[in-house]
Amino acid sequence: MIGPDVRLHACIKTGAYGCDVLEVAKRLSDLRVDALCCGTFDEAVMVRTALPDMQLIMFAAALPEGIPLYLRHGLTPTIHNLELAKAVSASAEKPTKVHIKVDAGGGRIGFPFPEAKSAIREIAGMKNVLVEAVYMHLPFVDAPGKEFAQQRTTEFCNIVEALRREGLNVPVTQARASNAVMMGLKDNCNAVAISSLLYGKASAPRDLADFSSLRPVLRAVKSRLIQVHPDFPGKTVGITTSGKQGRSARPFSGATGVIPFGWRDGYAQPASAQTAYVLIRGERAPVLAVNSELSVIDLSRLPALQIGEEVTILGTDGKGAITLDDLSIWQGTGQSAVLARMSNRSPKIFIG
Ligand SMILES: *Cc1c(COP(=O)(O)O)cnc(C)c1O
Repeated sequence: MIGPDVRLHACIKTGAYGCDVLEVAKRLSDLRVDALCCGTFDEAVMVRTALPDMQLIMFAAALPEGIPLYLRHGLTPTIHNLELAKAVSASAEKPTKVHIKVDAGGGRIGFPFPEAKSAIREIAGMKNVLVEAVYMHLPFVDAPGKEFAQQRTTEFCNIVEALRREGLNVPVTQARASNAVMMGLKDNCNAVAISSLLYGKASAPRDLADFSSLRPVLRAVKSRLIQVHPDFPGKTVGITTSGKQGRSARPFSGATGVIPFGWRDGYAQPASAQTAYVLIRGERAPVLAVNSELSVIDLSRLPALQIGEEVTILGTDGKGAITLDDLSIWQGTGQSAVLARMSNRSPKIFIG
């Protein structure tokens, strides 16, 4: 999909999107990706221990005083201001590769287009600083965004080309990420940095690209009933809270169950006017409350269940399925946010 002779920089940021940073890193290394892009220093150090020879690109997260630590662990810093470049120059004892980030227009980090060319030239002139790559990241999700992204990508390529004509040849250039690949943006760069697609996650609305061949890496999130309550007269569910948005436990009739999976585990209370569901015996059962460590499930439409019954929060069970799309709609947030929340605490089982 990314074309021949294009380097693949595979992202393991955001806690590898609900998966396991180290296991995902090892698998991607086995698959011979060209570099891994890390979100945090601690994760990068962990991966470095397991993969001594892999290039680890640090996405932005550093202050200049953190640079010596990056270099000690053989991490490739992203340079998004001159202070970081000077810190590399001051602490590097030999020529050291850096990747320069250009701000594609998101207003986050990187050199803005008008400054990029002179900044890159200045950094390339610093002692012991080797500009290995120039890159940008342009998140966009819709048709007007695609047009903007293509225009920005072309401008980016023009900056790189202008530098080349002036005698500064940057070996690695990267503008495309998942959406640019899926929506067919054109560039003449020789690398891509991809996260969403690697995890089998649609990165844009389905009508803009065909994501049907992707399979989710996080296959399922499961729990089990640790408590079953039959119906009883005067039954209520939920927690009575006080304060401005105070609410009372509400009357409920029917059986209920409890799973030891709450927002501490990355679950979330459904957005207003949304009902979330889990699967039990292939059937959807509504979620009545999500608390810090526990969630309450409506079992009123299911046969009498015992504790220990399997509950599927994400994934398939018999004919039933709960997809990442479902969870992100119910929780009123993006798919990445749903996955990132769930990368915290639950033990993981690796298959395949
Ligand atoms: C996350 C990220 C990417 C890849 O993201 P996609 O999900 O593929 O869009 C690329 N570059 C940077 C800087 C990123 O933070």
